[in-house]
Amino acid sequence: MRILIVEDEAKTAAFLTKGLKENGFSVDVAENGVDGLNSLEQVDYDLAILDVMLPLLDGWSILSVLRSKDIQTRVLLLTARDSVEDRVKGLELGADDYLVKPFSFSELLARIHTLLRRGTATEIQKIKCADLEIDAIKHRVTRNDVRIDLTPKEFQLLLLMARRPGEVLSRTVIAEQVWDMNFDSDTNVVDVAIRRLRNKVDDPFEDKLIHTIRGVGYAFEQRK
Ligand code: CA
Repeated sequence: MRILIVEDEAKTAAFLTKGLKENGFSVDVAENGVDGLNSLEQVDYDLAILDVMLPLLDGWSILSVLRSKDIQTRVLLLTARDSVEDRVKGLELGADDYLVKPFSFSELLARIHTLLRRGTATEIQKIKCADLEIDAIKHRVTRNDVRIDLTPKEFQLLLLMARRPGEVLSRTVIAEQVWDMNFDSDTNVVDVAIRRLRNKVDDPFEDKLIHTIRGVGYAFEQRK
């Protein structure tokens, strides 16, 4: 995963770079808005962390140019003040998330993990499979137009599988993506969660969408 940090404060940039590298990301830094925009136009980054106040070109402008050119790199904005207008402006311009300075590194890392898991803003937000519909923005799941209530983890699990239809997902991959855990031994938690999910999503219906792939993991697809 490759991240671009656009930040003119050298100390902050160095601190973020160090922390992100320690967490396995490859990191580039641009010290002003023009360099940042150039890099984002040339390189396909998984995420851009944009400071709003930057020399030459501010974070808002970078974001606005990117989106106008249909470059959908995920963007996390760093703002110096927490105001509703700033938030709305950022989201309207197409930011995926924002953080208010000062923030803790662990909070930044958590946001990054969520963003990278979530996919780009333009990724299909409504997923349909048979009579099942998922609205990824509203966190709403229905089958046959009847709403199904899921816990946040169940929702994440369903969304992960539904975004990769037909693909066999191992328990380890599911555990990492949904629980942020790296565990080789106890993937039982995945089986339990799948059972609960099936209970809500599949059991009451004729058309089963969650399939067990013996010895490997699970797959989501309509089979007829
Ligand atoms: Ca700045």
